[in-house]
Amino acid sequence: MQNQLLINNEWRAAASGQTMEVVNPATEEVIASVASAGTDDLDGAVAAARAALNGPWGTMSARERGRLVRKLGDRLLERADEVARLETLHNGKPISESRHVEIPAAAECFEYYGGWSDKVMGETIPVKGNYLTYTLREPIGVVAAIVPWNFPLLLAAWKVAPALACGNTVVLKPASQTPLTALALGEIAVDVGLPPGVLNVLTGPGATLGQAIVEHPGIDKIAFTGDTSTGKGIMRGAAETLKKITLELGGKSPNIVFPDADLEAAIRGATIGIFYGKGEVCAAGSRLLVDRSIKAEFIDKLVARVKKMVPGDPMDPKTRFGALSSKKQLETVLRYVESGKTEGATLVAGGARADIGTGKGYFVQPTVFTDVRPDMTISREEIFGPVLAAIEFADIDEAIARANDTPYGLAAGIWTRDIKKAHYVARKLQAGTIWINTYNVYDTAAPFGGYKQSGFGREMSAHALEHYTQIKSVWVDLNM
Ligand code: NAD
Repeated sequence: MQNQLLINNEWRAAASGQTMEVVNPATEEVIASVASAGTDDLDGAVAAARAALNGPWGTMSARERGRLVRKLGDRLLERADEVARLETLHNGKPISESRHVEIPAAAECFEYYGGWSDKVMGETIPVKGNYLTYTLREPIGVVAAIVPWNFPLLLAAWKVAPALACGNTVVLKPASQTPLTALALGEIAVDVGLPPGVLNVLTGPGATLGQAIVEHPGIDKIAFTGDTSTGKGIMRGAAETLKKITLELGGKSPNIVFPDADLEAAIRGATIGIFYGKGEVCAAGSRLLVDRSIKAEFIDKLVARVKKMVPGDPMDPKTRFGALSSKKQLETVLRYVESGKTEGATLVAGGARADIGTGKGYFVQPTVFTDVRPDMTISREEIFGPVLAAIEFADIDEAIARANDTPYGLAAGIWTRDIKKAHYVARKLQAGTIWINTYNVYDTAAPFGGYKQSGFGREMSAHALEHYTQIKSVWVDLNM
């Protein structure tokens, strides 16, 4: 397991010698000690990334670049067992999710964008006058990717893959809780022959290293996923050097169940929507909006299903519900549970810390509140944990109004058999992704990102390429 910084294809300790500990949230044990980078290390990484732009990476053919990006995905798949294990060890998610969902999706992201490399092109423009006017689509330069701890490798891939495919160089900063898989990606980059400086990996705390990245004049763009308040700080900080930024932030996504839905499917969807990934999913369907006429029956059946979901050892292939990512996250979730109780919501499932028989680990029971009013804290704030707030509505207009009554706009789910209603509501909802009769499905070819305070810019799909390139117009006088 690598624990140093990757700068210019060399593994180095932090210049200060500082390290930070990585904890397994399922056992509370320290599992690694990794370098904690400071500004000297950042300067080194940025200089290496800048030099690489002007070196072989800058002159490499787009097709060859694409081949290298695809190789990152190929090699990741070859090492999938080991990388999945690291992802589960530092994050607490079930090994089945790491091995069969996240790591393959990250590999696919490299495959997808590797294919784009030689298809990113400019245009010729029919301007007035006798000119040849054309555009070049060029890389932005040095891109910093700052990623959170919930899908550490996948959210890194969503940024690193399109950035490299478009010819940028990257400084990747994983969350301090989950640095291990970003370091594994660094190993893979060296292994497949990415030139020095093209991908640099710096582990370190957000408050110091992250902040230094935001302020660094040598960084041209920041691709960030994380908390909305952190995103606002990044936007303010990036203003000083006018860095390009894309922000993928928090959510409080509604899952709307109409009475004409396939209720069994909706119950499954509502459950997966909030409890997949322990609810530490930015697009989690954390607000269940359910029609008043079916609410009692729906909640009863949902609760019966939820009570069968028992947290277990994340390393056990049979486990479907793991440990929250950190002690801080456990405390936050339990605090929100208390606020739900004191503000008058009815707790119908979970609500407490769970013990998997070891007396250790940040496990919490899948939790459902009903009788939630839209003004309650658990209905308004992102909990980022396995807590579902069920809110009733009387008709379609009220469902839409309640769904949109949030500063966030990342995703939404609609459950109905009425095709007209489904599309009508999809257009009315202010969110970047709408799922109809499904939830939490993703594909590298489909864009993902936020409306409102869930951020701006899109990850995945061809649209992400726009955020990793800039357009240059070239005018040629053809007057004879
Ligand atoms: P966070 O904002 O605390 O941390 C995210 C990253 O930013 C980490 O690498 C952290 O070290 C770094 N960071 C922290 N402070 C910084 C600063 N001042 N300057 C620069 N970088 C800094 O978020 P988190 O708690 O790790 O992640 C959870 C959040 O991420 C949730 O709000 C969730 O909704 C959001 N999220 C959004 C998406 C999406 O696509 N929209 C996806 C996953 C997670």
